[in-house]
Amino acid sequence: MRILILSDVHANLTGLEAALKAAEGQWDRAVCLGDIVGYGPDPNEATDRVRPIVVSVIRGNHDKACTGLTNADDFNPVARQAALWTRENLTAENMAYLKELTQGPLESEGFTLIHGSLLDEDEYVFAPAQALDGLLGAPTQVSFFGHTHLQGGYSFRNNQIEVLSIRTATSAGGSVHSSVSKASLEIQGDTRYLLNPGSTGQPRDGDPRAGFAIADVERRIVDFWRVPYDIESVQRRMLTAGLPEPLAVRLSFGR
Ligand code: ZN
Repeated sequence: MRILILSDVHANLTGLEAALKAAEGQWDRAVCLGDIVGYGPDPNEATDRVRPIVVSVIRGNHDKACTGLTNADDFNPVARQAALWTRENLTAENMAYLKELTQGPLESEGFTLIHGSLLDEDEYVFAPAQALDGLLGAPTQVSFFGHTHLQGGYSFRNNQIEVLSIRTATSAGGSVHSSVSKASLEIQGDTRYLLNPGSTGQPRDGDPRAGFAIADVERRIVDFWRVPYDIESVQRRMLTAGLPEPLAVRLSFGR
């Protein structure tokens, strides 16, 4: 069984489609770690695309803010503006679907799905100390989280946390960001993992390509993928929609 792990799609249909095209035929079931909408220009299209393919999906902070479950008062001004734009542009059906999304953590396919941290769906796990709860407290050996938009994660073995360095950049000549690349992580029996598949819709780890992961349960391997997509077309749709320009610009840099 191969599980496709999507996260932080953020209403970027082009990034999502590129990821799904690259992953075609290489997964059996899909899950999503939240933030289907917010930031991007395609909230309905992204929701319509994710909804039928996932067996499990949990909510993210943007799904909550964009459906009015939370006000966006703790968002920065551009994120708030995008959340309010999304609220106005979601269809009633998608609004209802996103509003009803399950709160994580959620056990599915032998993994624990988390948006932020194990104990707080809105907490950013940026540092090893913040990963400890997820590493030790999750009911499964391997957990997946999102929210930071940083592909990678943490492992725990012999009382030590390790920050995993996932190197997906290609070393071929030319731009390292112009082709599909993949890095494999072997799951060791005596180790626990808290892994971030990256964001398909708004990467922030300096690599602008869409990020996702595929976990092969029997082979005990997690592949971390990066896939280029037509960033400019998304930026054009964002500006046409009147979404804040800084949100469009950051896509070029993956920051
Ligand atoms: Zn997010």
